[in-house]
Amino acid sequence: MRILLTNDDGIYAEGLCALYRCLSLDHEVIVVAPEAERSAVGHAITLSVPLRVRMVRRGREFRGYAVNGTPADCVKLAFYELVGPVDMVISGINRGANVGINVLYSGTVSAATEATILGMPALAVSLDAYRQESYCFAAYFVSVLVDQVFHWSLPFPFCLNVNIPHLPPQQIKGIKFTRQGTNRLRERFEKRLDPHGNVYYWQCGEEFMEEDPETDVVALKQGYISITPLHHDLTHSEILTRLESIKISY
Ligand code: MN
Repeated sequence: MRILLTNDDGIYAEGLCALYRCLSLDHEVIVVAPEAERSAVGHAITLSVPLRVRMVRRGREFRGYAVNGTPADCVKLAFYELVGPVDMVISGINRGANVGINVLYSGTVSAATEATILGMPALAVSLDAYRQESYCFAAYFVSVLVDQVFHWSLPFPFCLNVNIPHLPPQQIKGIKFTRQGTNRLRERFEKRLDPHGNVYYWQCGEEFMEEDPETDVVALKQGYISITPLHHDLTHSEILTRLESIKISY
């Protein structure tokens, strides 16, 4: 297969490299990724400055297109200019989970949903780790998914959000198909002073308040690999049905 590989941690990120190593054994893998980290930019695209592309080399591992844009920019530019349509787009492996409400902020996930908007199936892959990450098992698991997912007869083009616990493989409890958690996060801002005496804020210490066992948040916390099918239709169908009987006089 022809696979487009991207991420939001930047083209030099370890998670992308691990995935390239694993997937390029059996597939043609083309890398188009942000030249630097663009985590938590959501589905942002770049309109006010030009997009510039450089071919870069990551050691002896691979050559890829580094773009001064967002993950969604990378997928669009790859599709329209650099690469053309591919059999699958894979975004990751992200450093840190992308579950619950964080799916909305995630550049990793938005690269994958951008792919499905353009008609290509996609996987967003994240590892639930921020320290001493080891991407080996996660990369291997993605290569297994890539080989099997097309046999599942999913509506096309599908987008799967895959989150992998950072545990030794034998301690991972299994795989759960989940829904996205929707509960709010408990967040905190640290208020500090800069050297000039001006107040500034730094967001920190987010905490999930999710208990529904059918969600990605809880499955991952319990030690399961979580797979959530996503779509980019934000319509609230139930409210739309109710609105259809409303008459607005003006
Ligand atoms: Mn990231």
